Amino acid sequence: MDRVESVPDKSPVIEDRNFMTTIEQSQSPTDVQWSEISARLRSEIGEAAYQSWIKPISVHDRDGAIIRISVPTRFMGDWVSAHYADRLAELWRDHDSEVCSIDVMVQPDRYSQARSESRREAEAAMVNNHDGHNRRNGDDGVNPANGKADICAPLDPKFTFDNYVVGKPNEFAYAASRRVAEAETVPFNPLFLYGGVGLGKTHLMHAIANHIRTVTPQRNVVYLSAEKFMYRFIRALREQNTVDFKDQFRSVDVLMIDDVQFISGKNSTQEEFFHTFNALVDQGRQIVISADKSPSYLDGMEERLISRLNCGLVADIHATTYELRLGILQSKAETLGVEIPQKVMEFLAHKVTSNVRDLEGGLNRVVAHAELIGREITLETTQEVLHDLLRANDRRVTIEEIQKQVSSHFNIRISDMQSARRARSVARPRQVAMYLAKQLTSRSLPEIGRKFGGRDHTTVMHAVKKVDELRERDSMFAEDVELLRRMLES
Ligand code: ADP
Ligand code: MG
Repeated sequence: MDRVESVPDKSPVIEDRNFMTTIEQSQSPTDVQWSEISARLRSEIGEAAYQSWIKPISVHDRDGAIIRISVPTRFMGDWVSAHYADRLAELWRDHDSEVCSIDVMVQPDRYSQARSESRREAEAAMVNNHDGHNRRNGDDGVNPANGKADICAPLDPKFTFDNYVVGKPNEFAYAASRRVAEAETVPFNPLFLYGGVGLGKTHLMHAIANHIRTVTPQRNVVYLSAEKFMYRFIRALREQNTVDFKDQFRSVDVLMIDDVQFISGKNSTQEEFFHTFNALVDQGRQIVISADKSPSYLDGMEERLISRLNCGLVADIHATTYELRLGILQSKAETLGVEIPQKVMEFLAHKVTSNVRDLEGGLNRVVAHAELIGREITLETTQEVLHDLLRANDRRVTIEEIQKQVSSHFNIRISDMQSARRARSVARPRQVAMYLAKQLTSRSLPEIGRKFGGRDHTTVMHAVKKVDELRERDSMFAEDVELLRRMLES
């Protein structure tokens, strides 16, 4: 695959010149060795890495025991030195035992100079976008002024730490995000935020970015959805400018990629993500990642990527509690500047348990409705306006479904959910089921107790407390419970 862009037009003169170069190359022993060595490396590292890092290399000259190779950019130079220089020297020694090392030099060629100019323009455009204004690009992130990608997706200025309501389910993720935003040196790398849909991952990521851009505008923060990352990368592959793609990340201080579950199973994107990731981590840049599951549960993710993701700090955002939902409603009502009866807020916090997005959407609808028809907000109007949302939340999970799912997860009989057996192997799953019934349905404690073989409400209370304790102490157990919850909610 030749770079199309390196042939300005199809005039025979230029073709001839290329031809001559080929002849000349084939005459130099160093170049013959290089083509064998690079072919060998290609089979070792795979096509994608070869195209990105090895193909652009040219052999400059040989100085005794040192082979000098050149690459078009400093970023590539650093990368090649760190990752391939030793292996190249080894391979070279197979041909010629005199060779002792590889020296990588940076020599921009005519074409890459043109490329780096447009890159500078793209970087300038990115700097302009730091304050959230002056955005010239459309949704696909292509800047019409120069046709180059501006890699940062737009940030929502409303997503800040100040209006993020903190409660038990999200306090850890919140604290970790704040630390990353405020730290002068990288506190943990990466920060991996995970949690179900609509629980505030994107909000926290934008809050980090908004904070950094306000306090230290000279730092280059790039926020990108994993899908955008993938789309950009695939386009770069198609246009054969993966070098450009990589160089875009060269000047990034903080890279945030949202919803990485979307790149699991996409191998070449994962590969690229892994390289970009490693390069930035090695240079001490901060990475923030979000996903809907913990790294270990991301299907189709490569093992080495999972272990890399697990290396930093993994922070889970749990499903909301009643208290947090109420706090969020109060904060949003304040922002909207509307009086909402306490009863209505309690009703919403009790009923709309799916996620914060639904809760917020519900509140907005109630407020909009009241304003439109000029009526007060009451419990009755709320029920009327939100009947579909309330039904969806109600219908979500039944205690029977919870019992079925939990017993099959722990491999016990469903009848043991009601039985009097006290062996830990059945008592623990039963407690988990009670806990989930409390969290996921709007049943009262006595009602839940009745469904578990007529147990007392204090037994249910005890189960909830026990499971909470275990979740704190035992992260495997916490993951199990979280997994069950997600399964039941989906
Ligand atoms: P996710 O990315 O996890 O799917 P989002 O960050 O998009 O969720 O959050 C969905 C909506 O809920 C956003 O409007 C966000 O502002 C709001 N939200 C989520 N959690 C909170 C919170 N703790 N406090 C205030 N708003 C929140
Ligand atoms: Mg999101």
